[in-house]
Order: sequence, then structure tokens, then C-alpha cells
Amino acid sequence: MGKKQAESILKTLEENGYEAYFVGGCVRDWLLNRPVHDIDICTNAHPGDVMRLFPDHVPTGLKHGTVSVKLDGSLYEVTTYRTEGEYEDFRRPSEVSFVTELRIDLERRDFTMNAIAMDRHGRLKDPLQGKRDLENGLIRAVGTPVQRFREDALRILRAIRFAAQLNFQIEPETLEAMSVTSSLLSHIAIERVRDELHKILDSPAPETGVRLLSETGALHTSPLLQRLFSVGQEQAARLPFLASLPQKWALLMYAAGFLPEEAREVCNELRLSKRETEAVCSFIQYVALLQPKWDEPSGVDWRPLLLQTGLPFCLELATLLQAVWKDNPARDLKQSLEATYEQMPVKSMQELAVSGKDLYTLLGKKPGQWVHQILQHLWEQTAFYGLANTPEALLEEAKKEVARHEY
Ligand code: ATP
Ligand code: MG
Repeated sequence: MGKKQAESILKTLEENGYEAYFVGGCVRDWLLNRPVHDIDICTNAHPGDVMRLFPDHVPTGLKHGTVSVKLDGSLYEVTTYRTEGEYEDFRRPSEVSFVTELRIDLERRDFTMNAIAMDRHGRLKDPLQGKRDLENGLIRAVGTPVQRFREDALRILRAIRFAAQLNFQIEPETLEAMSVTSSLLSHIAIERVRDELHKILDSPAPETGVRLLSETGALHTSPLLQRLFSVGQEQAARLPFLASLPQKWALLMYAAGFLPEEAREVCNELRLSKRETEAVCSFIQYVALLQPKWDEPSGVDWRPLLLQTGLPFCLELATLLQAVWKDNPARDLKQSLEATYEQMPVKSMQELAVSGKDLYTLLGKKPGQWVHQILQHLWEQTAFYGLANTPEALLEEAKKEVARHEY
């Protein structure tokens, strides 16, 4: 992905008599000196012309006029100037029509800062004054705000997401229109809502996103999500301490006082993957157990946690606790965790000198749930209570334990 390569695409189009510009997020991010992850090009050439000029292409969105041109292993989206026809059900239309004028294409875009075109020499075409808004840190709907959010309610979440990512303000009339139309978000596929929420959680100013979600009532059609994002800005401001999305969801859920079953319900509602859901639920389970107080660090006995969940999970849990405690005790916390782990002579059940099979053969019993329980006990005894990790010692302890529990 490079600007130089992309410039050559514009050049080819121009040399064949077409207009072509960079447009959208890449122009916005270049002007803001932010990293650019995808380069979009708009042109008055029709998709057929684009495919003819660039044989190495992928027809990624012909219905919407988009052809992805492949260059040095990267894809560049080339989209024909278009306008969007009738909107159905407050979602983006399935049909589009091509137009000949750049300006019409810019007017279909959501915010002025996303509606700036740039030619290959860096000159701007900016009829909607996007650069001025960009310089003032303002997110302003193109055209009549209420109408634009009615056309596509996802734009409400995009505005909030950009505010959190860029630390921008939302222009007052635009903000007002977001509140007025927010109930239309119920028409948007939950996956798209979730993706925007994830970008808010991953942004540098999630507290701004959380405040706007709550102020605009954007999530009020889902009572659980509404409650989740009503957490204090103070608590949301800790999200950047955390690396993974499951940790971030868990922090918000803890702040909102969610019960484990409510946590699972939200994960299901948002269609998080099974892996993410299990991670969120484990965090909530263990945080509920430890009940850390906001901004009040305290010690943790890592031993039972290490036995139940293992080191990688405990390290992530420590980061989560650090975010709740905020005043950076994590060094101590992680040190105590790592020291506890280092001191364990037996670091996993697999390191025990007897296996499950050894146990049930040598004890002459039927395999079953008890085997795992005995192994867990032996691991705890060898890891923390000085039991020797030899077949003889383990077998003797296992016999005692079997007798104690009458397995
Ligand atoms: P990023 O890629 O950083 O998430 P972006 O602005 O590039 O931000 P994309 O989804 O890649 O977002 O869209 C590219 C461009 O398409 C936008 O800059 C905007 O001009 C236009 N666009 C995207 N989504 C919408 C929408 N829902 N309504 C109107 N225009 C949109
Ligand atoms: Mg983009």
C-alpha cells in the first residue's frame, strides 16, 4: 500500500482521458498526518473502462461501481463517480447510478472531512469545505443532517467513532440530528454496529465515544447496551490501558455492574466470536471474584488463579486490574504474579510425574471425573505445598485423597 503506486493509477486514468482523484478517508488522514490503511480512488471512468485499463484487478463491488486494482500485491479501490438512488429501510441502497461530476459524488459522502478529493499532485477539490472543518476539528454532515442520518443511520455511529478516533467535536446541528434520528439505528445490521463500537473501544478517546453514545441515545433500542455505555467517562478513559477487545468489554461491563449472565447476553447480542465471548466471560467471572475497587490497589493471591487459569490469562487479568486501579501498581502486581509462577516447581499438570492413565491403572479404578480432580490436587500440592514430584510420593498422596473423598 503506497501513495506512489496509487499515483500511477491516477496517472494511467488521466492519460486515457479520464478524471481521477484520491478521496475519502485517505485524503482526510493524509491531511491530518495520520497513518493511512486503505487508499480509495474515484473516477469518471466506468468500471468496464477501469477493468480494461488495469487487467490485474478484482471486481470487488461492481454493483456499486468499485473495481479493486492490484499493484505490487496491494489493492486500491477505484470507484466510479456515483450518487445513491432511493434509500430503503434507512440503509444504504442496493442500486446506485453513475454520474459525470465529481461534486455529485462528494455530496453523497457522509461528512465534509470525508468528502475531499485530491489529485495526484496534491491539489484539493473541496467544494464542501471539508478542509476548513478538518482544521477546526469538526465533524459536519454533508447536506441536511437529519436527512443524511435518515438515509443511513450507521452514519450516526460513524460520527461518534470519528469523534473518538480523532478527538473531534461534532458540529451542533449534526449532533442534534443524530439524537433526533438515533432510533433508526435499530434497522442496521448488528455486525456493522458492533464493528463501529469496536473502533470506539480501540480509539484513543473512548470516553468521548461513550459520552456521545449515551447523549445521543444511539443505543437506546438495546437496554443492555444502553446501560453498558452509560458508564462514567472516568471509567471509560481507562480503556486505552488495555490491549484486547475482550479486556475492554470486560472493563466496561464491570464498570456497569453487569452480572456474568448479562455479560454473556451482550456478547451474544453483538455476535462476538465464541473465543471472544469466552474470554469476556472469564474476565468477568474472575473480576467478580476479586471485586477490585476503583482506584484502590490491593494484593492478589495468584496461586489459585494460576492453577485454574494459567499464566497467560493471569497476565491479562493483571492488566485489567491495573486499569481498574489506575495508579499503575501493575509493576508490583505483575512482579508478584511472575514471582509466584517462577516459584512453582511444577508449572502445569502435564509436568507431574504421573499421568491420569497411571492413576487409574495403578489405583485399579475406572477412569472418570475423579482423575482430573486428583491431578489438580497433586499439582496444587507439588506447586505450592512441597509435595515431591516423584511417582511414589504422588501415588501415595493420590491414595489418601481418593480415600478422603471416597471416589
Ligand atoms: P476508515 O477507513 O478510517 O474507517 P473511512 O472514512 O475511510 O474511515 P470507509 O468505510 O473506508 O471509511 O469509507 C470510505 C469513504 O466512503 C468515506 O471516507 C466516506 O467518504 C464514504 N463513506 C463510507 N461510509 C459511508 C456512509 N455510511 N455514508 C456516506 N458515505 C460513506
Ligand atoms: Mg477507509
